[in-house]
Amino acid sequence: MTDPTPRPVLVTGGNRGIGLAIATHLRDAGHPVVVGSRSGEAPEGLDAVTLDVTDTASVDAAFTEAEKIVGAPLGGLVANAGITKDQLLMRMSDDDIDAVLDTNLVGAIRCARRATKSLMRAKGGRIVLVSSVVGLYGSPGQVNYAASKAGLVGVARSLTRELGSRRITANVVAPGYIDTAMTEELPEELKEKYRGVIPAGRFGTTDEVAAAVGFLVSDAAAYISGAVIPVDGGLGMGH
Ligand code: NDP
Repeated sequence: MTDPTPRPVLVTGGNRGIGLAIATHLRDAGHPVVVGSRSGEAPEGLDAVTLDVTDTASVDAAFTEAEKIVGAPLGGLVANAGITKDQLLMRMSDDDIDAVLDTNLVGAIRCARRATKSLMRAKGGRIVLVSSVVGLYGSPGQVNYAASKAGLVGVARSLTRELGSRRITANVVAPGYIDTAMTEELPEELKEKYRGVIPAGRFGTTDEVAAAVGFLVSDAAAYISGAVIPVDGGLGMGH
């Protein structure tokens, strides 16, 4: 189904996994989409720019390039780029703490900061931050990752208070365990254990995450801001 307002959107980390599903879903809904990643890889049928969210100059250049490609100010940002560097806290290195926070949290802030300029010029728009169930539920071995993902909630809510009156919304989507390359690598025993605690009894699909993001980008979600939308089969209920 196409959305009445085509909104040019940059999807960070949109060249594979969840980001690619989001980018494809938004394109199919009628939005001009550009994906950004360090490799600058362009999946079939999508425009791409080189983007390193840990580098402000790269973020600025990527947005400028994306706007050249679509020929208009961006009307949406999906901050999806993310990494993990799991380790029990007592063994976690400074590098692993810094890298995860700098990519997942500060990277999203850098992108949101640049995006707000475009969204103001576009007289409105959408920011969607891809978090994780782990941000509010917690997870052993993921103190760095959980902190980075919980921080995104504060980002969306502060942006909502800063920009809510300018027809700009900022929301968080919090996926649970999703079938991706990342979860594919888990031992079958562990996957079985996880399925046992997910009320839906299964992992989610990238398309199910993309559908929630697509809704938040759509005109129908104009009055939803500062929300955390779980896509986790019920795993994180109550948080
Ligand atoms: P992938 O590892 O498949 O993809 C990560 C993406 O982020 C890639 O496109 C990668 O591209 C990009 N990326 C990483 N670092 C940077 C950087 N510094 N600058 C720009 N782009 C970067 O991850 P998933 O698809 O599994 O996850 C996507 C998001 O969803 C992440 O934020 C993750 O935390 C979150 N999530 C995933 C879950 C899952 O089960 N898979 C569950 C809950 C949340 P490149 O390497 O080319 O830069």
